[in-house]
Amino acid sequence: MNQFDHALEQLSRATAVQSFDSALIRRVSSPEREVRVTIPVVMDDGATRLFEGYRVQHSSIRGPYKGGIRFHADADIHEVRALAFWMTLKCAVANIPMGGGKGGITVDPKELSAGELERLSRGFVRMLYPVLGPKVDVPAPDVNTTPEIMSWMVDEYAKLTGDTTGAAFTGKPLGKGGSEGRGLATGLGGFYVFEALKEKLNLSQSARVVVQGMGNVGGNAARLFQQHGHTVIAISDSKSGIVDEQGLDIATVEAYKQEHKTLVGFPGARSISNAEMLELPCDVLIPAALEHQITHVNAARIKAKVILELANGPTTPDADDVLFAKGVVVIPDILANAGGVVVSSFEWEQNLLGEHWTEQVVFEKLHTLLSKEALTVWDHSQTLHTDLRRAAFVVALERLAAAQ
Ligand code: NAD
Repeated sequence: MNQFDHALEQLSRATAVQSFDSALIRRVSSPEREVRVTIPVVMDDGATRLFEGYRVQHSSIRGPYKGGIRFHADADIHEVRALAFWMTLKCAVANIPMGGGKGGITVDPKELSAGELERLSRGFVRMLYPVLGPKVDVPAPDVNTTPEIMSWMVDEYAKLTGDTTGAAFTGKPLGKGGSEGRGLATGLGGFYVFEALKEKLNLSQSARVVVQGMGNVGGNAARLFQQHGHTVIAISDSKSGIVDEQGLDIATVEAYKQEHKTLVGFPGARSISNAEMLELPCDVLIPAALEHQITHVNAARIKAKVILELANGPTTPDADDVLFAKGVVVIPDILANAGGVVVSSFEWEQNLLGEHWTEQVVFEKLHTLLSKEALTVWDHSQTLHTDLRRAAFVVALERLAAAQ
């Protein structure tokens, strides 16, 4: 099964607990438009290399397509299609006026120089700009795409179209039309969702937390949980993890990683593989790296009480079954990591209105919105006697049905 098959499997499980109009289900089972592009890039040595890229525009039922662009060696059309599908549902769960889309380029950006990366980013926009735009499709950053990359993309878009609103891309640097708070938004949103559900889940003020991944999402989430009195006992990057049962100071870990380019050798902590880390006893396990980390292979060995999915698609449907049977609560990606797209939609709104909101305003709006929607999903799970993933899908489908 590829990732889109998994996404459709999740859809079919949700429609088994609440039925929907079959035309709506058929509509969300197929993306509205998929574009595959070949991007020629002149490399630093003068040779031209071709890169494969994608943009999947899954659904515009609730508004312009919205979703990140991923630069990764394993990015392919199935992955991008699944991510676009989840964006449609995520925007509906978060109740923002956007549809779902996603993009990707099959590339390991670490192999490119800064100049090559810029030419690739601009090339992606040159290939796709006729199907992008503030009222059509508004891309954002995702894995390995930074505010700087977004600023190249929006600049290229402005050159090609004359649109100077900046609203065609989000996740831009602050000085180039970005929103206050966008960098923190996904981790912070996850924290707000956790806070809203904490009592329902019988979790204490001081939870023991394990975080897989320390990029934008995982790093910020780990810092926020620590700042709010929780104990982060383990964290990892793509190569390995570290554990300290007494708790890690995340700022120190990040400074160590910055200096040594690895977590190995971090003083006072023991090294652990990413696979072992997922199986540590803890209150909250936060997968914040890539898809398919918790599968039928390791689900039975997961000892967390709650999984807060900050990555997209970290848990496969068969793993969901094992976890549900064990009583492990999974707070699904389409709710838990919605903070990023919510603040992206705030950025888009600010660009279109010509406004600039303070960080306090952005965080208050994010908090109000996600706390409310987390409880909406919780209430649906109670009424339908089902898990939070099926409940979140039902909330999204109800909103899509109403907008059709
Ligand atoms: P990022 O590129 O900033 O960081 C990714 C992190 O994952 C890095 O620390 C990397 O070392 C680690 N990693 C990569 N491969 C790994 C592996 N095999 N095992 C363990 N760790 C690995 O990316 P990000 O923006 O933090 O995104 C992380 C996840 O969150 C992705 O699934 C992404 O789709 C999702 N997400 C991101 C946002 C956002 O606003 N950036 C929003 C919603 C969801």
